[in-house]
Amino acid sequence: MTRTGIDLRSDLMTPGSAKVAAAMQAAALRPPAMGHGEDPDERALMELMAAELGVEAVLLVPTCTMANQIAIRLHLPEGGRLASSALAHVVTVEDRATALTGVARQVLPDENGHPSPAAVAGFLAERAPGEATLVWLENTHMLAAGSVMPTGWQSDIGATCRAAGSTLHLDGSRLWNAAVAQNAPLSVLMAGCDTAAISLNKAIGAPVGSVLAGSRSEIDEALRWRDAMGGGWRPIGAIAAAARAALEGWRDRLETDAAMASTLARAIAGRLGDLAVQPAQTNLVFLNRPSGDAAQFVDSLARHGVQVLKLTPALVRLAIHGGVRVHEVETIATAVATADTELAATRGA
Ligand SMILES: *Cc1c(COP(=O)(O)O)cnc(C)c1O
Repeated sequence: MTRTGIDLRSDLMTPGSAKVAAAMQAAALRPPAMGHGEDPDERALMELMAAELGVEAVLLVPTCTMANQIAIRLHLPEGGRLASSALAHVVTVEDRATALTGVARQVLPDENGHPSPAAVAGFLAERAPGEATLVWLENTHMLAAGSVMPTGWQSDIGATCRAAGSTLHLDGSRLWNAAVAQNAPLSVLMAGCDTAAISLNKAIGAPVGSVLAGSRSEIDEALRWRDAMGGGWRPIGAIAAAARAALEGWRDRLETDAAMASTLARAIAGRLGDLAVQPAQTNLVFLNRPSGDAAQFVDSLARHGVQVLKLTPALVRLAIHGGVRVHEVETIATAVATADTELAATRGA
């Protein structure tokens, strides 16, 4: 089926720019490189990302799922317990992959998706003696409507983890959006974590790819896991060149995304009331469908030219991304209100 209209199903729907396409083409026309670190664009991208994140090393991997799954194996090589919020991507969307690692899971209480330093300290104080543990954070937290972790929590949690002999991983698939929300460099949002996974194909609009960030020794070990999992991309030049080009000017672009999301959430609240929509914290807008009609609503909205994603029977996600134009925000809000009114009329009939 060809899809038309405005596609807000995910922020990975950002279209490629002419600059990205030109960089890919130039790289594709060069003789390919053979192994890890041989390609100049791959090396430049890894150096740039390591500098932005303030880490010793990064590794390019095909997906953020793979970056997360490698991290579990790095931190819990003999098994152990992974502690995260109940709705963390690693235990919801990635549940099958995470099950393959054989680790036990622990749900940490959270506030708007983020376990507090006290919650983590409580968990670490009571864990089984001798059990290896990995504490897991997600910023922004996707299933908490793209919420941003409170400033300072992660460095506190990191210190608690180190004191208790635990490690800390950050699923920062959308760390870019959090950095814009907090007006801070990416490196500040890395504080306290041992490793982090960051998507290149969502916010910044690279065609594909993610990075795993950490210490030199962790990334050396991660390379072995990546290749074992079949993620040893070759040749990688065109992919790395595309991501490098996509990185240019990312902060300004994402500030626009955040502004559009917040305008959209307010426009929808203005038409349908505050209960219909959650305030946008970053680029994601969550619509509440308390009547449990999310699937019908998504179909109806698609007929009005806007594609969105059903997350649960009562929750719908609109992801703002680089392909959305500022003038389209009003069009989207109007389509949402129209679809809602039509559905209400059907129910009333
Ligand atoms: C999208 C996402 C991932 C996985 O990314 P893929 O590249 O699709 O595997 C991991 N964590 C979070 C929070 C995500 O939103």
